[in-house]
Amino acid sequence: MDCIFCQIVAGTVPSYRVYEDEHAIAFLDIAPSCHGHTLVVPLQHAAELDDITAGDLAMTAQATQAVARILRSKLQADGLNVQQNNGAAAGQLVFHYHVHLLPRWSNDGGVSLHRRGETNHAELAELAAFLKS
Ligand code: AMP
Ligand code: ZN
Repeated sequence: MDCIFCQIVAGTVPSYRVYEDEHAIAFLDIAPSCHGHTLVVPLQHAAELDDITAGDLAMTAQATQAVARILRSKLQADGLNVQQNNGAAAGQLVFHYHVHLLPRWSNDGGVSLHRRGETNHAELAELAAFLKS
């Protein structure tokens, strides 16, 4: 199993989980583009949008809505971007279907997935515990 997100799902690679249900999990992006940048990932492996089953797609969409609500309320975000990349040409780096959730605040200057943040484990651990609580 060489898929990093399958390993995170299995728990053999650590992550800052903020949500889990029977079909999907969500964890903080390790190189966040903004505060609260979160990934929603189906438990079942599928490389991208073209491969995922309709059922897993629907269940991941439901989890996406639940996590978006958590982020907006707990982080008091004014808005939220959803991004989903398919194929290397579209900037996909990890070939296990996932949805990016990017909380936004009025006048935050805009965020871009191409502007990578630094990994700060202490900050990510504290934020994940807060969001999961
Ligand atoms: P994409 O370009 O849509 O494939 O995005 C993949 C995302 O996964 C990037 O934003 C990475 O920072 C993120 N990522 C890669 N490895 C990990 C990891 N071990 N834990 C959390 N996020 C990760
Ligand atoms: Zn996988």
